[in-house]
Amino acid sequence: MAEEPVVIVGAGLAGLSAAYHLRQYGMASLLYDKEDRAGGHTRSHAHEGFIFDEGPHVSFTKDAYVQELFAKSAGTYHEFLSTQLNYYHGAWLKHPALCHLHGLPVETVERCLVDFFEAQRRSHPAPTDYDQWLRQHCGSYFTEQFAARYTRKYWTVEPAELTTDWVGARVYAPRIEEVVRGALQPQAQALHYIQRCRYPAAGGYEAYTRLLQEGAEVRTGCALAELDVRRHRALFANGQAITYGSLVATLPLPVLVQMMTDAPRDVRAAADRLRWTSVALVNVGVRRAELSGAHWLYFYDEDLIFSRVSFPHRLSPQNAPPGCGSLQAEIYYSRSRPLPTRQVLERTLEDLRRVGLLRADDELVVTATQEIAFANVIFDHAREEAVRCVHRFLRAHGILPCGRYGEWGYLWSDQAVLSGRRIAEELAGSAVSSTVVSGGSRNREA
Ligand SMILES: Cc1cc2nc3c(=O)[nH]c(=O)nc-3n(C[C@H](O)[C@H](O)[C@H](O)COP(=O)(O)OP(=O)(O)OC[C@H]3O[C@@H](n4cnc5c(N)ncnc54)[C@H](O)[C@@H]3O)c2cc1C
Repeated sequence: MAEEPVVIVGAGLAGLSAAYHLRQYGMASLLYDKEDRAGGHTRSHAHEGFIFDEGPHVSFTKDAYVQELFAKSAGTYHEFLSTQLNYYHGAWLKHPALCHLHGLPVETVERCLVDFFEAQRRSHPAPTDYDQWLRQHCGSYFTEQFAARYTRKYWTVEPAELTTDWVGARVYAPRIEEVVRGALQPQAQALHYIQRCRYPAAGGYEAYTRLLQEGAEVRTGCALAELDVRRHRALFANGQAITYGSLVATLPLPVLVQMMTDAPRDVRAAADRLRWTSVALVNVGVRRAELSGAHWLYFYDEDLIFSRVSFPHRLSPQNAPPGCGSLQAEIYYSRSRPLPTRQVLERTLEDLRRVGLLRADDELVVTATQEIAFANVIFDHAREEAVRCVHRFLRAHGILPCGRYGEWGYLWSDQAVLSGRRIAEELAGSAVSSTVVSGGSRNREA
């Protein structure tokens, strides 16, 4: 009897990777995605000769397997050391700002240093939230003036609302000598956790999905609308209904639980506690290539609408027509911090001019906004327990959560690929054991 294909909802990197690795185990799968093409957050969008990704994407993976997969997919890629700058009250500081305070008003430098030394001098209990982590590693003044402001703009919450388990290498904890040297004179050193980067030469970041897409059976335009987890039935918004044996879910957990006709109250309540950010992207194509020496910039000032601006044409010259440059501004919002205005494009252009990235006489070839409903999972204090509750229920009903929004974590693109591979291994493993036990098909329904 032929095996029933594994159903995968969501054809982003994680879903595509699950299907790709299932194929290597000789197992068939069918992917369903609500969009008109696969790729999820790693899709790239072309406008008038410019290419914009869904938020700035570079690959900085150290995983040799993913490096090779991406390299084969892209064919040719650029490799470079990334550079970042921070904007604070009209000054441009290297990254991380605390190690490059030279040039700021003396009073600001002094207060940053005094509080930083004070924090270093004391012994601290293990931090229980991100605010404590910041104060212990960076000092209170820097925390309040820089990091907390950025947190509000990027994470849309107060630092105390966040846990510390996502921090890892993402936020730099500077050493005393680095802070002192950077206060005394300009420093060249770069201490960003993303240093050596790769980016496809052509086609935008999406080119990294090419190998995973080859041979994948994808049903596009199929938005999952209803899930009967006990009968293993899925209904799509276009009216199509299917039954499944195993279902891999890469769509966001809160959306998935909402679709379940028979999720118990505690699981619904847990899903309601999950928080995330959305992002409005403002994409700008300019008839001028010299826009910035950096690959991306961070903005601390709360009166500037964006938290980050990046330059797609600096990742690959093929991302813009000759003689042109491009910018992408990110404006994060969530249930706790709505978009400050509906005039996002106008406000962004105005603020880009205020900080000197656009000139009054610049010819804007493209201006477009794109809203991404799910950007980052918010690591608040309720997340871990809520995710555990939802996952327990899903797995008990043969649904395997996968990818950034299925695992509900801070997964980069390489980790999304590895998440899909893990699920394929798990399914292949259980197929072998169920064959041994029953001698027949693993799936209950055809
Ligand atoms: C702003 C931003 C910047 C990033 N920068 C980087 C970076 O520099 N480097 C890096 O490595 N990673 C980066 N990432 C992370 C990377 O984009 C993700 O790890 C990866 O794309 C996640 O893939 P996924 O398949 O898990 O999720 P997704 O790509 O979200 O795939 C989920 C799929 O489910 C589909 N779907 C949703 N709802 C339904 C439904 N109801 N029915 C059917 N289908 C549905 C969606 O259309 C989508 O295709 C960034 C992410 C963001 C948001």
